[in-house]
Amino acid sequence: QQKQTWDEVDLYFSNKLHTTDHIMNSILKANEEAGLPAIDVSPNQGKFLHLLAKLCGAKSILEIGTLGGYSSVWLARALPEEGRLITLEYEEKHAKVAEANIKKAGLADKISIIVGAALDTLPKLKEQGLTSFDLIFIDADKVNNSEYLRWALKLSRPGTVIITDNVIRDGKVLDPDSEDPNVKGIRTFVDQLSVDPRIDSTVMQTVGMKGYDGFVIGRVKQ
Ligand code: SAM
Repeated sequence: QQKQTWDEVDLYFSNKLHTTDHIMNSILKANEEAGLPAIDVSPNQGKFLHLLAKLCGAKSILEIGTLGGYSSVWLARALPEEGRLITLEYEEKHAKVAEANIKKAGLADKISIIVGAALDTLPKLKEQGLTSFDLIFIDADKVNNSEYLRWALKLSRPGTVIITDNVIRDGKVLDPDSEDPNVKGIRTFVDQLSVDPRIDSTVMQTVGMKGYDGFVIGRVKQ
């Protein structure tokens, strides 16, 4: 019953606040047809990411975890003409689907997909001097979240927004004895945030069509 209410409320706001359109719907459809797991952000969350990018005036965005490019398109739609988004994806197949979706959304000139394990491709961004992204979205394999945070900080400037998805996991984040590698990954990430003096953060718990989860939102300090 509770989950049904969350779903209905999600849909109500999605319809009222126009958090979807035919392109975004067609991306989800293409992902489903290609057999990708439905682990993209929801339409309301996608619009939230979009607004966050607008609110911080992002011109350069880094995303770790592309899947079919659903969140990439939401974020890239917030960019100005000269803005760019780089998204990192491990699975060749996901990257191919994302590439087609991004083209369909008319954003091929703004979004670059880099295929490979993010821990291999992140150092290359640093080598290229890409060290001051305005916004970084961490949404890949949760076991590596604390490594991703470390890299995000290396690729940031004061004021960079770093946002990380799936940090609540139905409340499982509370369990210190969890054997679930994803939960362990999130807990290590949170431990690291709690002692890192370089970033100021908070959590936003979310409910809706993606269940009970949440984002950690941080801002790199001066
Ligand atoms: N951000 C996407 C969205 O909302 O539309 C969803 C991303 S999905 C939750 C996580 C993605 O991270 C998957 O496509 C997965 O293949 C990718 N991934 C897993 N391990 C990775 C790694 N080591 N490096 C880069 N990407 C990885």
